[in-house]
Amino acid sequence: KTHSKGEPLDVEALGRSSWNLLHTISANYPDKPSNQQQSEMRQFLQLFSHIYPCSWCASDFEKYLKDHSPKLGSRDEFGRWMCEAHNEVNSKLNKETFDCNFWQKRWKDGWND
Ligand code: FAD
Repeated sequence: KTHSKGEPLDVEALGRSSWNLLHTISANYPDKPSNQQQSEMRQFLQLFSHIYPCSWCASDFEKYLKDHSPKLGSRDEFGRWMCEAHNEVNSKLNKETFDCNFWQKRWKDGWND
């Protein structure tokens, strides 16, 4: 059976799509962000944690943001912060954690040298 019209996302598909977006946003974050860029990203994450359409995911993420203030001083800092946030969810779901030293290879540069 084909689904050319598409289907609503379940929590897993929503999660995969969202991590794709969030890590790709961090991969495109400036190396030297202005105060405004840092402030906009802080606001985005805060709003994201309010509107994320999985209520228990959203409230856990909101709490994570409160306890672990986003590190927005550079691309690498932010990418690592996002990786650690994702690892927190991985642990909660008993998934393997990801080695955050490799976040740029996974989400920015690719694995090929
Ligand atoms: P995903 O966890 O979606 O990961 C996708 C890919 O990202 C992986 O294949 C891997 O290549 C890469 N990756 C994995 N870990 C990292 C990392 N730490 N850093 C960088 N890259 C990494 N689901 C629930 O059931 N309960 C929840 O409470 C919940 N909360 C969530 C909160 C947020 C903010 C988001 C975005 C998602 C949440 N999810 C939650 C969804 C969950 O995290 C997964 O997306 C979903 O279970 C699908 O998992 P997956 O195994 O396909 O890979």
